[in-house]
Amino acid sequence: MSPGLTAIEIVAIGEELLSGATLDTNAARIAKELEKIGIRVVRKTTVGDEVEAITSAVDASLRRTGAVITTGGLGPTRDDTTRVAIARVFGRELQFREDLWQELERRWARRGRIPATNRSQAEVPAGATVLPNARGTAAGLALADDRRGLCIMLPGPPGEVEGMLEGEVIPYLAGHVSPGARRPFRRLLRTTGIAESAIAEKVGGLLDDLPLEVAYLPEVDGNDIRLTAWATAEADAGPVLDEGVKLLREILGTHVYGVGDVDLVEVVSGLLRQRGLRLAVAESCSGGLIAKRLTDWPGASDYFWGGLTVYSDSAKVRLLGVSEETLRRHGAVSEATALEMAERVCAVSGVACSIAVTGIAGPGGGTEEKPVGTVWLAVRVGARAAARRRHYPGPRDAVRARAVQGGLDLLRRMILQEPL
Ligand code: AMP
Ligand code: MG
Repeated sequence: MSPGLTAIEIVAIGEELLSGATLDTNAARIAKELEKIGIRVVRKTTVGDEVEAITSAVDASLRRTGAVITTGGLGPTRDDTTRVAIARVFGRELQFREDLWQELERRWARRGRIPATNRSQAEVPAGATVLPNARGTAAGLALADDRRGLCIMLPGPPGEVEGMLEGEVIPYLAGHVSPGARRPFRRLLRTTGIAESAIAEKVGGLLDDLPLEVAYLPEVDGNDIRLTAWATAEADAGPVLDEGVKLLREILGTHVYGVGDVDLVEVVSGLLRQRGLRLAVAESCSGGLIAKRLTDWPGASDYFWGGLTVYSDSAKVRLLGVSEETLRRHGAVSEATALEMAERVCAVSGVACSIAVTGIAGPGGGTEEKPVGTVWLAVRVGARAAARRRHYPGPRDAVRARAVQGGLDLLRRMILQEPL
């Protein structure tokens, strides 16, 4: 085991993880916590409950990386075989630990007599350090030697893992990290309305000379760009990250709607507040989702008048006053209808800004001319109005989510008087 631990592997144990019945949330949680002290999860393996499978996975991890965290298989039942497997990997006996047994008995006291099967939970590989688990009966264990390396065994239930990370695992591992260890420092740039490939093309080799890792993170709501600099302190990473952010902002312009953990709604609401504008929405295919996104944030009443969900033609006519003539001539999913919706909702509400959305979310209803995913967005800011036709990929949920984000972004660009 190296002093100066920088990399570790995870072996997630459990048949339910392989079959898909349970999602492995432990690994993500562990990775996030460990990187804070400069330890990177470099590989993750998932295996079932058999001793053989666990043994070979942990053996391979230790050969490659010298350090491993397992989760799962520490319970009292027959399928919980992690202790046996790890004892084998390290060539240690299983030892009955009286102190662990007493602790188990104490926990069981309230419920009655402890079942004999729980004895296995007090049998641990000789020389293991016990990592107490305040939230469950399966204590964590740590084994380390110069021959095989370091192995930490954690239970499966995510709540228990979470409880043990800060209190037990991080302090234990911190003893193996060298004081000057580098940690990742990050900046997140959020974009929407621009394709990942278009971003990559614009960015090209722009950041090649900076000691940064660049990750493109495509999401339904847009494409985020994450910059990572490894350093011992923020003071060292900060200038490089700031330079990267500056270069990206220069090249991407207003496609970047925010830096950091910021939601587009926060950006739009900031602009509305700053300029004393109020917003109303008229939603067809998004069915109220824009209103929901806006009102997810406290304080929305400062700038949000409200909205109308006008799903049917009749609702568009009767609630909003869209003309039947427009609907007949152009159809509900059209530039003319979107613009009229935006105009009418301003008239009905008496506010200056609006977003209107009308489209074909699917899976049915598409035509050759207007395939599924076709959405017309319209916005008004005072006397200015604009509409854009979009074609959003994906299933119904994704089309609707993209339409919401698209509408908010169109309004943002319109307020900023930027290209739409
Ligand atoms: P075990 O400790 O293997 O008996 O697992 C106990 C419980 O934790 C089971 O319900 C598992 O589905 C759950 N579990 C085990 N491993 C994970 C994991 N990696 N992520 C999320 N849940 C898990
Ligand atoms: Mg299990």
